[in-house]
Amino acid sequence: MLLPEPHRTGRIGWLRAAVLGANDGIISTASLMVGVAAASSSRRDIVVAGVAGLVAGALSMAAGEYVSVSSQADTERAELNRERRELTEDPVFELQELTDIYIARGLRPELAADVAKELMAKDALATHMRDELGLSDVLSARPVQAAFASAGSFAVGAVLPLATAVLAPSLGSFAIAGASLVSLCGLGGLSAKIGGGPPVNAAVRVMFWGALAMALTAAAGSLFDLAV
Ligand SMILES: [Zn+2]
Repeated sequence: MLLPEPHRTGRIGWLRAAVLGANDGIISTASLMVGVAAASSSRRDIVVAGVAGLVAGALSMAAGEYVSVSSQADTERAELNRERRELTEDPVFELQELTDIYIARGLRPELAADVAKELMAKDALATHMRDELGLSDVLSARPVQAAFASAGSFAVGAVLPLATAVLAPSLGSFAIAGASLVSLCGLGGLSAKIGGGPPVNAAVRVMFWGALAMALTAAAGSLFDLAV
């Protein structure tokens, strides 16, 4: 696209991904630490579990995001090349194809032909990418950026339960769980605000899943405590 367009939806997508990454970081790291705390009273074990969870989680987020965005970028690039080739090899067919698309969307045939002709004269490739393939921003997928953003937001979330365990060691699991639930509540409200949904529902949903994850890992950990 050559035209400047408002990137509001793009920014929302990015913010939403960051909030979700932080949610993941809080829930999985806090659960891991609470689970280890249920099996062992050693503060060192709990902190090691948190640090390992942060590193493993951030890298697994980065890997997943990199792979998924890369394959999206490959697909977009292949579509772009195919479209570019078709436009040079058979411009008449491509013009008719675009005209048919506009007719299907409700334009009169003569108007559709005029619109197709004028848009193709301006930027044929961008027009086909947008109206035929539905790709509004040509090659918008950025794998490395996406990987860093996911890993970073996960790590930010994971630092929270970790810092709680380091700063308030005497309070143990309760401090980790409490601080995590409070932050999840805040992030849930924030993500609802970004997306325009009701904040209370979003906060309750994410707190429910966070509490469930911590309760189940604590239960799993306490099995080992009984066994020893
Ligand atoms: Zn085409």
